[in-house]
Amino acid sequence: MKLRWIRTTLFLSLALSCISRQSYADSVKSDLVLQGTITHAQNQTYVQVPFNIPPGVFRLTVTFQYTGKEQGTRLDLGIFDPNRFRGASGGNKSTFTISETDATPSYLPGPIIAGRWFLLIAVPNIRPNDVAHYVADVVFETKPQIESFSNGPLRNGPAWYRGDLHMHTGHSDGTCPSQTGKSVPCPVFVTAEAAMRRGLDFIAITDHNTVSHYDAMRELQPYFDTLLFIPGREITTFWGHANAFGITRFVDYRVGSPAVPDINAVARQVDRLGGIISINHPNDPTGEDCLGCGWTPNPPADLHLFSAIEAVNGGALQGPNSGVSFWERQLDDGYRIPAIGGSDNHHAAWPLNHPDSVGIPTTVVYAQNLSVSAILDGIRAGHVFIDLTGSRNRILEMTASAPGQATALMGDSLHAAPGADLQLTVHVVGCSGWLLKMSDNGQDNSALPSRIVSQGDAIAHFTWRSDGKRHWLLPQMETPQGKLEVLGNPIYVNDGDRKSIRQ
Ligand SMILES: [Zn+2]
Ligand SMILES: [Zn+2]
Repeated sequence: MKLRWIRTTLFLSLALSCISRQSYADSVKSDLVLQGTITHAQNQTYVQVPFNIPPGVFRLTVTFQYTGKEQGTRLDLGIFDPNRFRGASGGNKSTFTISETDATPSYLPGPIIAGRWFLLIAVPNIRPNDVAHYVADVVFETKPQIESFSNGPLRNGPAWYRGDLHMHTGHSDGTCPSQTGKSVPCPVFVTAEAAMRRGLDFIAITDHNTVSHYDAMRELQPYFDTLLFIPGREITTFWGHANAFGITRFVDYRVGSPAVPDINAVARQVDRLGGIISINHPNDPTGEDCLGCGWTPNPPADLHLFSAIEAVNGGALQGPNSGVSFWERQLDDGYRIPAIGGSDNHHAAWPLNHPDSVGIPTTVVYAQNLSVSAILDGIRAGHVFIDLTGSRNRILEMTASAPGQATALMGDSLHAAPGADLQLTVHVVGCSGWLLKMSDNGQDNSALPSRIVSQGDAIAHFTWRSDGKRHWLLPQMETPQGKLEVLGNPIYVNDGDRKSIRQ
């Protein structure tokens, strides 16, 4: 009997060492490994496994595995912090995460208090003479990083991914009709369903200043498994709005208070936490209709601290409040800062043909895969165009080539000596009957004549000669009546590399 026990133990140990390291620890290094054995003597009892959490942890992730399931062993999971119960998932989840803002369903978000916690292992069944071995890999997040509600990319491979980067739910001022038609704070899932109807690949929900919507986003992500949820929030100050993406931790938005002297202090917080920040609807007027909506920070914003400008907001697709002119002024001033768009939807139940519905405009990002970090990398790089009416298939892409240099995409930079020729190629899909309009530093250039697109899938070539100076070359699609339909990002010539606060 004893010999058999040892053999079983060895076999189970080997089996455990295989299962516990493959799916999780290959990519994430554990800070702590809790392991042990459970025997029949512990059947129908609760085993408390203590462990210490050091100060400075903002997220705790536990991955739990055990042997003996084939023999009917069942080990159920729960957790207590030093003061209280923080959730239990029984046998229905093998991994969970808890942070101040969000937690896997079954678990409660809240501060990750330093001190003694207990992993609770309930033992509903283990047969006589059986031994189960468990391993809990524990990861403490302490360093800034891009936060995601998904463990990996939702889709692999480089592609143009379509999304909406600016939306509000009932966690701020988003409303929708209740079951009886009353206007109520709108649950997050209604926005997700609207995005699915639009055919989007990603959404950033950007409620004003709060971080309360992340728990709902974490719950919804596994269900909406083709729609990537990007953590977002609209930093809302008395002198302008700015969207922060990719982070879940609190950012102090109280510009004018001692801790936050100006908007640049907000942008630095976002950067320190690992996220990016975009200036929102900069040409909106500020007034009692929309307090703080215009971009009037004082002292002025340091544009080097911002990763994008919302050139197209759903509330101002065209006309004097459009942010395009603000964005182009920054390009003229020498900044290399990408244009993005966002619907700023506050009514997720509006039908798709409503001019302010989710996905109008759609921001389309060329990314290496469908993950938060890849989409944000694509935005940082300016590999972006904005589809103002939110189609499912429209494409506007431009490349430029020069001898001896890698092909540039929109957002990239090339060097061109005086007299050197660049070859520009513009590919458009779904724009038949519209005008391809090229501009050079915001002006017409006879080397870049406008062209009517006559096919659903069309390619245009241009040769552009450099004068050795800095230029930004921008493609956009307009209707013959001059209405902007698709806005690209420029390819920059002789721009040098954009300064970054990370340098
Ligand atoms: Zn706003
Ligand atoms: Zn907004």
